Amino acid sequence: MRLILIGPPGVGKGTQSALLVQRKGLVTLSSGEIFRREIDAQTDLGRLANRFISQGQLVPNEVTIEMMAKRIGQLDVMKAGFVLDGFPRTIPQAEALDELLSDMGKPLDKVVSISADDEIIVARLSGRIGCTKCGEIYHARNKPPKREGLCDKCDGPLFVRQDDRAEAIRARLQIFHEQTSPVIDYYGEKGLLQLVDGRQDPETVFKVIVGEIGA
Ligand code: ADP
Ligand code: ADP
Ligand code: ZN
Repeated sequence: MRLILIGPPGVGKGTQSALLVQRKGLVTLSSGEIFRREIDAQTDLGRLANRFISQGQLVPNEVTIEMMAKRIGQLDVMKAGFVLDGFPRTIPQAEALDELLSDMGKPLDKVVSISADDEIIVARLSGRIGCTKCGEIYHARNKPPKREGLCDKCDGPLFVRQDDRAEAIRARLQIFHEQTSPVIDYYGEKGLLQLVDGRQDPETVFKVIVGEIGA
């Protein structure tokens, strides 16, 4: 199964891809997670990416495409299939991905578009908390950790992402509407799109996705 999860920031892509990994054994590649690991490791790529990410801007297409092509090209990822979370986010990225996968003879099976209104998105992003160690995602009100500041799963310290500040949230939403919405239409025209209502609770969203992809 080769799948894309697409949708506005904070709609629940990361939450759903974690469930697909934990319960269905799928392999996921999250562009945002990969960038954050590069930033933590203080690599050149991380330093470059952080200039954009901290402002809520997209990392330039060229840099993003090169990084994702490298990951997707890795054999173990291809064998098991994959779920892409957060990539592609622009038309040039979608076109580059098409070309890469068709060169590999491994076209996409489906694109799942999760949606919710801006109001819900802002509420979700402004309460998001993540684990620095295992990546588990919490929410201050919807899904609080049992002990403040500590991960339920691994005891790791929790953190609030720099780009979940109000200013960066506004920028990311605008970029979603301008640059990522056209990507959803692009896959619609290709007949690959499945629409999922992201306003529902995480378990319901998960059931709908599993039903759509037949996992
Ligand atoms: P994305 O990867 O799309 O940016 P996340 O999975 O990180 O989104 O979710 C953003 C925030 O919203 C997190 O705090 C998460 O716990 C919460 N969240 C995710 N899905 C739902 C849902 N269906 N209902 C309520 N809150 C959710
Ligand atoms: P969210 O789904 O909550 O918006 P992600 O974790 O997917 O966040 O991405 C965090 C940030 O990383 C984005 O706001 C952007 O700056 C950068 N990023 C992630 N994926 C891409 C991409 N495909 N193209 C450009 N920038 C990206
Ligand atoms: Zn953890």
